[in-house]
Amino acid sequence: MAYLTLKGINKIYPNGFHAVHDFNLEIEKGEFIVFVGSSGCGKSTTLRMIAGLENISKGEFLIDGVRANEKGPRERGVAMVFQSYALYPHMTVYDNLAFGLTLQGVDDDVIEKKVLATAEILGLTKYLDRLPRALSGGQRQRVAVGRAIIRKVDIFLMDEPLSNLDAKQRVTMRSEITQIHRRTGATTIYVTHDQTEAMTMADRIVVMKDGYIQQIGTPHDLYFDPVNIFVAGFIGEPPMNFIDGTVKNGKIVIGGKDIDLSAVADKDVLGKYEGSEVTFGFRPEAIKLLNGTNMENVYKFCGTVELTEMLGDNTNVYIDINGVKSILKVDPHDTPRVDTDLGFAIPYKNVYLFDKHTEKRIKLRAV
Ligand code: ADP
Ligand code: MG
Repeated sequence: MAYLTLKGINKIYPNGFHAVHDFNLEIEKGEFIVFVGSSGCGKSTTLRMIAGLENISKGEFLIDGVRANEKGPRERGVAMVFQSYALYPHMTVYDNLAFGLTLQGVDDDVIEKKVLATAEILGLTKYLDRLPRALSGGQRQRVAVGRAIIRKVDIFLMDEPLSNLDAKQRVTMRSEITQIHRRTGATTIYVTHDQTEAMTMADRIVVMKDGYIQQIGTPHDLYFDPVNIFVAGFIGEPPMNFIDGTVKNGKIVIGGKDIDLSAVADKDVLGKYEGSEVTFGFRPEAIKLLNGTNMENVYKFCGTVELTEMLGDNTNVYIDINGVKSILKVDPHDTPRVDTDLGFAIPYKNVYLFDKHTEKRIKLRAV
C-alpha cells in the first residue's frame, strides 16, 4: 500500500493543448479514489501521468512522500486496467494470467500458486483452460483485472474498465471490484464518466471538468454539499432541477409565482444578490406531493404533468410549472395522469441556490 501526493500537476500536450490544470490531491494508503467527469475532461491524462505513461509537464507526483516524476511505470509499483483490455486470444485464461510472471522469469510452481489464488479471488477457477473467445464479456474483464492484480502492486489504476460490458454485468463487476479492493487493500484510482459507478464505489470522488478539479469529497459530500452548479447537476439521477431568476426585494419569480428567498437565506446574503440572477435548485427526489395536510417550511408549487416514466421503484414525473420544466421523483403508487395538475412542495432544507454567473453555491441558512 502506498500514499500518493499530487502537487500542482499540469499536462500540456506537445501540440500546446493544456489538458490538466493545477491538480492537487492527497490519496491515503488503501483509499479507493474515483475520477469522474464527462469525456475529454482530463481523467485519463491524469491517470496516465500517475502510471508513468505520460510525462508530467509541471508539478510534482510523490509516492510515499518520495518524488516519482522521473520513475518509470515498473518502478512505481502500479498495475493498470484499461477500457479496451487486450487478452491474448490464442492463450488460455491460465496462460493469460501467468504471462507477465513468466516474462519476469518467476518459477513455474510459484506462478501456479499465484494463478490459482488470483483465479479464486475472481471466480475464474472453472475457466482456467478456456480461451478468451469462450468467455462472456464480464469473465474476460475479470481476467484483465486478474492480470493486473497477480503481481503484488501497491497502486492499482483502472480506466473505465466496465464500459464495454452490458448494464447488468456492470452492476455485478462494480461490486466485485469493490470486494477485490477490500481483499487486496491496494491504493486504487478508478476513472469513469458514470456518476453511479463513482457514487457506489468511491471512498472519495474527484469531479473534473475541462481539465480542472471541481470538487473532492465523499459521495455524501458531493450529493448533499455540491460547491457549484456543475457538481450539483453531475451527481444524482435524474439531475437536480435548476431554475433561473432575478432577485427583486429578496424574491424571485418561478412559474409566475413569487418565491421569498428570505425564508432560506440571510438578509446580508440576499442584499448582495439584489438585482442579480441566481439559480434555484432542488433534487427530483427532494419534494413532497401536496396531500391536503398542512405543511410548514416549504415552497408550494403547482404544475401540469407532461410525461411520466414508471421505473418500478419510483416514477419520474416531467412537470411544467407555468413554462418552467422540472422532473419530480415520486412513489410509483402516486404516479399522476398526464395532462392533470399536480401540487408539490419543496421543503426549505432541500433548496439550493447558486450564483448564476460564477455558478458557485450560495450558502443558505441552516433550516
Ligand atoms: P478523458 O479521459 O477525461 O475523457 P483525456 O484525458 O483522454 O480525457 O483527454 C483530455 C483532453 O486532452 C481531451 O480534450 C483530449 O482531446 C486531449 N488529449 C488527449 N491526448 C492528447 C494528445 N496526445 N495530444 C493532444 N491532446 C490530447
Ligand atoms: Mg479517458
